[in-house]
Amino acid sequence: MAFNPINWILGFFSLDIGIDLGTANTLVNVKGKGIVINEPSWVAINKRTRKPYAVGAEAKSMVGRTPANIIAVRPLRDGVISEFEITREMLGYFIDRAHQQSIVPFPRPRVVVGIPSGVTEVEKRAVYDASMLAGARETYLIEEPTASAIAVGLPVGEIVGSMIVDIGGGTTEVTVFSMGGIVTSRSLRVAGDELDQDILNFVRNKYNLLIGERMAEEVKMKIGSAFPLPEEKTITVRGRNLISGLPETLELSSVEIREAMSGSIQTIIDTVKDTLDEVPPEIVADLMDIGICLSGGGANLLGLADRVSDEVRIHAWVAEDPMSCVARGAGMILEDFDNLKNWLIKID
Ligand code: ADP
Ligand code: MG
Repeated sequence: MAFNPINWILGFFSLDIGIDLGTANTLVNVKGKGIVINEPSWVAINKRTRKPYAVGAEAKSMVGRTPANIIAVRPLRDGVISEFEITREMLGYFIDRAHQQSIVPFPRPRVVVGIPSGVTEVEKRAVYDASMLAGARETYLIEEPTASAIAVGLPVGEIVGSMIVDIGGGTTEVTVFSMGGIVTSRSLRVAGDELDQDILNFVRNKYNLLIGERMAEEVKMKIGSAFPLPEEKTITVRGRNLISGLPETLELSSVEIREAMSGSIQTIIDTVKDTLDEVPPEIVADLMDIGICLSGGGANLLGLADRVSDEVRIHAWVAEDPMSCVARGAGMILEDFDNLKNWLIKID
C-alpha cells in the first residue's frame, strides 16, 4: 500500500483502544497504558427520558435500591445486545472516559471490540454502529474467545489444537482452535448469572429467605465451588423472611451451595463434553498435551478446574487473571496490528 502521510500522522497520535464488552463487566485497554477501565456493564437510566443517570460501578451499586423513576439495567445481559440504545450510551461513556486520558483530543480512537462468538450479523452490526456512534474513527470486532486465546498465548496459529472455555456472566463459550481458525464452538446461556439465581432460589425454597442478587453473587464468589473443598466454608447472609416478613440472618455452608449450583455446573460440563465429541481425534490428542484453558470470571469458581479435569479426563487450568483476557488480547492485536489483523472481523 502506498505511503499516506495523513494516515501515518493519524496513526502516530491515535489512541488505540481494546474493549471487552462483557455481559457482566466492561474493560477498556488503552494501547501503551494497559487496562484503564474495569467496571460492571450496568447503566442506571431515567425511566421517562431513557437518559443514563449513572454508568458502571456506580450504577451497579444502585441495583435493588433505585427510586421509582430510575431503573438499573444490564444492556447485554444474555450476551446479546438487547438494549441497543443503552449499550451505545454505555460504550460511548467508556470510550469518552478512556479518550479523556489522551494528551491530544484528536484523532478519534481506533477501537477493537470483543464480541461473543455466537452473535448474529445484526448484533455485530449493532456493536459496530454503537462504537462508531460513540466516537470511534475505525472499529473492528474480534470474537472474544480468539482475543482470550491470544492473551493466554495458546498456539492458535499453529498446526495443533487448543481449547478455551470462557464462563462469563450471561454466557459460557467453548471454542476449539487450530491452524489459525475456529474448528468448532458452542455458546450456552448458562454462566455466572445462572449460578447466582440457583443460590437465590435455593435459599428461598429451603429457608424461606429472600436475598438480593448481589448477595447471591457474593455467596458464590466467597464459598461457591464445583468440587469438594479441602476445607468446607460458611458465610452469613442477610435477607427478608418470606413468612414473617422480618429481616433475618442465616449461615450457609459451601456444601449446600455446591449442591444448589450443581445442575447448572453440570450443564456447563456437558457442553464441554459435547464439544469434545465433535472434535477430530488428532485435536483431542493435542488437547491432552496442552490441557483445556478456563477463562472469564466464572473460571475463578473454586474447584471448577478440578471438576472439569475429573469429568472430561483432560487437564483443565485457569488462565492468569481470567477476567481480563479479552481486553488484554484486544490490546495485543492493536500492538501488533499488521500481523494479527487477520483475526479481526471487519464490517463496512
Ligand atoms: P462477562 O465477560 O460476561 O462480562 P466476566 O468474565 O466479567 O463476564 O465474569 C463475570 C462473572 O464471573 C460473574 O457472574 C461473576 O459473578 C463471576 N465471578 C467473578 N469472580 C468470581 C469468583 N471468584 N468465583 C465465582 N464466580 C466469579
Ligand atoms: Mg467475557
